[in-house]
Amino acid sequence: MPDEITLRQDLLNQLPGMPALLNHPEIRVFRDSHPTLYVNDIVRRELDTLRQTILDAPEELLPQIPIDEIQIAERALDLIRRSVEPSLNRSINAAGVILHTALGRAPLAPAARDAVHLALTGYTTLAINLDTGKRGDRHLHTDRLLSHLTGAESGMIVNNNAAATMLILNTLAAGKEVIVSRGQLVEIGGAFRIPDVLKRSGCRLVEVGTTNRTHLRDYENAITPETALLLRVHASNYRIIGFTSEVSVRELVELGRKRGIPVGDDVGSGALIDLRQFGLPEEPLVQDSVKDGADLVCFSGDKMLGGPQCGIIVGKRDMIERIKRNPLTRALRCDKMTYSAVEATLKLYLEQDKLAERHPVLRMITEKPEVIKRRAQNLKRRLAARIAGNADLSVIPGETEMGSGSLPGKSIPTFLLQIKPKTGSPDDIARRLRLGSPAVFLRIAEDSLLADLRTVFPDEDRLLSDRLAAEI
Ligand SMILES: *Cc1c(COP(=O)(O)O)cnc(C)c1O
Repeated sequence: MPDEITLRQDLLNQLPGMPALLNHPEIRVFRDSHPTLYVNDIVRRELDTLRQTILDAPEELLPQIPIDEIQIAERALDLIRRSVEPSLNRSINAAGVILHTALGRAPLAPAARDAVHLALTGYTTLAINLDTGKRGDRHLHTDRLLSHLTGAESGMIVNNNAAATMLILNTLAAGKEVIVSRGQLVEIGGAFRIPDVLKRSGCRLVEVGTTNRTHLRDYENAITPETALLLRVHASNYRIIGFTSEVSVRELVELGRKRGIPVGDDVGSGALIDLRQFGLPEEPLVQDSVKDGADLVCFSGDKMLGGPQCGIIVGKRDMIERIKRNPLTRALRCDKMTYSAVEATLKLYLEQDKLAERHPVLRMITEKPEVIKRRAQNLKRRLAARIAGNADLSVIPGETEMGSGSLPGKSIPTFLLQIKPKTGSPDDIARRLRLGSPAVFLRIAEDSLLADLRTVFPDEDRLLSDRLAAEI
């Protein structure tokens, strides 16, 4: 024991002090050219972390802790560099997941970007009634567009679809029972589980049916005077195949009307156009749910819709008005950036023939594999000329994923640039690509890296080639 204490104490004593680190020539450069107190604070916290590591580490790991001044300064410099650069940055997505949640889901259309820019660089008309000059309703920016595009009486947006689901539940069914099929009690990811959301919204969950089969009579038998909502949830990120049966929205609506109970439908990614026209499998259309009579339908703004993060609720006007009056709605409302981006995105859907050229997500989905193949071959040629045989390069067929729980188990044919490094592991190269500027994300296979250009903007091809050439 005493030995161990001495070893720890020795290490602590050997740590360089703040003055020595702050005087390190490269750190001094940063202290001169950036806010000094911020840089000092980063160094101090790094030193504190190291001190704590020495105190906490198991004895056998103690010798591995870096304590010499040069090493610590290098680590601090790395942190300083990362901290003075913008932390949230543009990146290149060559990972082949179109709606990549960790990379910010849908890239916005140029029209949405321009709208946000205009709205942000001055004051706006966010929540003002232009006729009266009095306080107005911010929800009106999207109401007419959402009604027109989905066929619903009214529509509004909130922070995200998780918020939309909670607001529907809390507004219509707090303190009451909500009936959901067992096959739809899904986890979306990030701790969003339908049963938990229901509970947190103040509702009591009544599960009906089984994992694979639920019938109309299951709902019928579960209705009590306490039933306030029949909820359908699109399973989004998984698919049950085989001996299955779910009750359609239309049947639920028929039952609900007979018994005076509203029907809510969380369609998840919520497409506004039929993806089958592009040879893709069907995603539930928001319009269909409205047409089938669901009282409230909710979906994400940054999945298939291709807009900013938000949750969209459409449906019966009186119910939308009730949601607007719920105090929780205030806590989950969107800001001016979101309103301007979502309005511009929705307007693109008014001219569907031009959608694929104006809407990045749709463009990525519909890009022909041969076009991607040509770009991959160009990238291969450019790269081959620069990496002097450090890796084997080939263009191979592959698949792009939709991501974000949309179109689970289905993918879009694409072509990949396969990079087999001759020295260095794919993991190390991928790490350097992530840490450089701009950050590049690829798929990592066993002995190779795979770049899918379907999710790379064509004007990024050259930059991608530069980044790859630098790190391979
Ligand atoms: C994605 C999803 C959500 C959560 O949406 P966010 O916009 O990420 O909050 C909720 N329900 C379903 C069915 C989903 O697919």
